[in-house]
Parts: sequence; structure tokens; C-alpha cells
Amino acid sequence: MGEYLLRCVSDGSVQPAYSLSCPHDSSLLRADYLARQIQPRSLPGIWRFLDWLPVRGTIIGAEGAPVTYKSLGLARELGLENLYISFNGYWPERKAKNPTCSFKDLEAAPTMQRLLERGDHPTLVVASAGNTSRAFAHVSLITGQPLVLFVPEGALERMWTALSSVESGGKGKGAGTDSVTLIAVKGDYYDAISIAEKVQSLPGFAPEGGARNIARRDGMGTVMLDAALTLDQIPRHYFQAVGSGTGGIAAWEAALRLRADGRFGSVLCRLHLAQNLPNAPIYYAWKGKEPEPVCNDMFDDVLFNRKPPYGIPGGVKDALLDTGGEVYGITNSQAAAARKLFEQSEEIDILNAPAIAVAALEQAIRAGSVQRNETVLLNITGGGVSRMIEDHSLQMIRPQKTVSSWEQAAEFLEGKR
Ligand SMILES: *Cc1c(COP(=O)(O)O)cnc(C)c1O
Repeated sequence: MGEYLLRCVSDGSVQPAYSLSCPHDSSLLRADYLARQIQPRSLPGIWRFLDWLPVRGTIIGAEGAPVTYKSLGLARELGLENLYISFNGYWPERKAKNPTCSFKDLEAAPTMQRLLERGDHPTLVVASAGNTSRAFAHVSLITGQPLVLFVPEGALERMWTALSSVESGGKGKGAGTDSVTLIAVKGDYYDAISIAEKVQSLPGFAPEGGARNIARRDGMGTVMLDAALTLDQIPRHYFQAVGSGTGGIAAWEAALRLRADGRFGSVLCRLHLAQNLPNAPIYYAWKGKEPEPVCNDMFDDVLFNRKPPYGIPGGVKDALLDTGGEVYGITNSQAAAARKLFEQSEEIDILNAPAIAVAALEQAIRAGSVQRNETVLLNITGGGVSRMIEDHSLQMIRPQKTVSSWEQAAEFLEGKR
């Protein structure tokens, strides 16, 4: 079972089990698991990695997991001999069954389980412009654990579920929609976040913590664990499209644990992180460049995060420095071409975000940073929505209220109690 001590990365000090911050500085906290070696369990989904997840129990029915496979099609196009794809979406032919088609499913399940184990039953508060909200809504719907979502009006179209119980307004067999309160926010992602920040500090509510939540990071870290167990070694290179960079931190932390395990080699995976220009603060910070003005017309509009956990102890910069990493700035047209190349060569649809990672891999090969025989892990962070629609009829989760201030949200939530 995932037994661990929670330590500050900066000074190693042990902190209370559910802390999200360190007392002396801005350091991330990290789980220090008692199990030095990982023993995969015969449990479904990511629960297979229970030794290195900060939970004791599992959620039945939350069975999304990364699927690592060796690429033939894209590998041939790129001239790589050992390209492995971690597919984090829906693709039943490859046993990929992430219920909301992105790697946010890997974060949502352990986060909800950890909250349940905390014992005081708070209502979780999440703000997001898409994939995160959809993933948390799914776990809430199957567990009945209460959740309040703040989603900007323009992103409501992403709030679908493939669960059929929602169809019958919650009276069907599943948990129904009662557990999820979706609140539409007039404004953008930042308005949604600032309202959520106020609401989550009210009694009875809890923040999900973003990058600071070890359950989110270690859930995403299963991408690296699954790859290492498939390859019998830590891959040499890891490519991922990032907004906050949390997935990059998670991959690094998983590689550190695998190195300490001793059976997967002694070389950490080089992180290759990719952002969509010009909304690319991690790219500008890493390159020491002056940021270009933000643009609203982007190939990818889920990735942008204005305040990534870059410079804090245990954050993105430390992950890049420790692994000899690199950051890539990808234009809209490069990403669009990369998406086409991937979909044609691997025969599955992908989201726009992972196309940015594909374009970064192309750049890295051209720059000579990746040799043709080296092991490469390409994280396809979301895909298979078209494939999902072939098998399921998607239902929309509808907002119960539209607000333009946190007071309106608090009043509405108070009235619901
Ligand atoms: C959230 C997300 C990412 C990037 O996540 P980070 O938190 O920055 O690691 C990439 N792709 C998709 C599809 C996502 O939903």
C-alpha cells in the first residue's frame, strides 16, 4: 500500500500528511514511499502502481491507465528504432480506456481517493477550462463524492461524459449527477480560478492543490512507471506538451524512484517539454527570453498556464536541470502538421495538446538531441475522442448556475446545502 512520509523537497523535513505547502519556503512536497522497489499489483488501471500512489484504497470503476506500446508507423516516419508511445486516452484496441480521453484521468482518481481517506469529507473545488474538470467530474459521478467545478462559459462544450446514467438525470444505475455541481463562469480561465480560490477556502470545501498535490503528480507519474516496466529500463528521453509542467515534474520524480529501485538503470530520463508559442512562459523562462504578448487564437487552448511552478524547489526548472532537459516552442502550424503526421501514421485521433509534443520530437531529432537507436517515450496526453464517439453517446453535463463573482457562487452553494 502507498505508505509514505510527506517531505519538503528543499530541506527534507517531514510535514503533516495533507499539507500542500512547506513552512519555510515555497518548496513542493514530495511523497517518500516506504516501498523502495515497486511491485506491480494485480489490480485494474493505475491501482497496479499502488506502492507509489499516496492512497491506501482504490476506486472501483476508475480504471484509466497509461498504455505503453512500441511505435511502428510514427517511428518509421521519424527514423527512430525505439520510439515508445504512452497513450493516455481512449483506444480499446490497445486497451487504453481513459474515461475522459486525457491523462487528467490519471490525476483525478488518486486525488479523489486521497481526499476520501482524509476522513473529513470536504467538497472538492476545481477550476479548469476543460480536461481537468471533465476528469474530476467522471470520478465524482462514479463515486458520489461531492465536487464543485468552475468552468468558463466558453469551455462548457468540453464538459461531456460517456456515462449513461447522466442521461436519466441521475436516476439510472450510476451515481447520477447529484454529486457534481457545475458552475459556469462569465469570463476566462483566470476568472474561474479566482472564484474557485475564494470558494475553496470556505468551511466544508477543499482545494485540489494543482501541482502541489502529490496525488495528482504521482498519478501522472504512472506514465513513467508503466513505460519503465514495459521497457525494463528508464527510457532515455521523455517528450510531453506542458502548461503547468506538472506532468514533467511527475515524470522526473517517477524516474528518481525508479533509479533508487535499482532494477531500471541508473540514468534519469531527459525531459523534453513543449509549449505552444506565444503562450509559453516555461519556454521563455528556460531560454531566458523576453515573453511575446499572449495570443487568444491558439492551436491548443488547454495548455496555457500563466503561473507555472517553475522556479520553486522541486519545480519544473529543477526537473529540467537534474535531467539535462530541454524546452521547445512550437508554432500553431508546426503543431497542426504534427497532429496530421501522428494521426496518419498511428491511426488514432489525438487532442491538439499532444501534437505539440510530437512537433517537439521532430525538432529534437533535427537538432541531433535524440539518436535514432535511443529509447524515446512520447506522452500522448490525450486522444481517442472520435474513437470514443464511435462506441458511446456522449452526454453533456449542464451548468446549474452562471456567475460573475465569487459572492454569487457562495450564495448559490449556500442555498443548495
Ligand atoms: C493538462 C494537459 C497537459 C499538460 O499538463 P501539465 O500539467 O502541464 O503537465 C497536456 N496535455 C493534455 C491533453 C492535458 O490535458
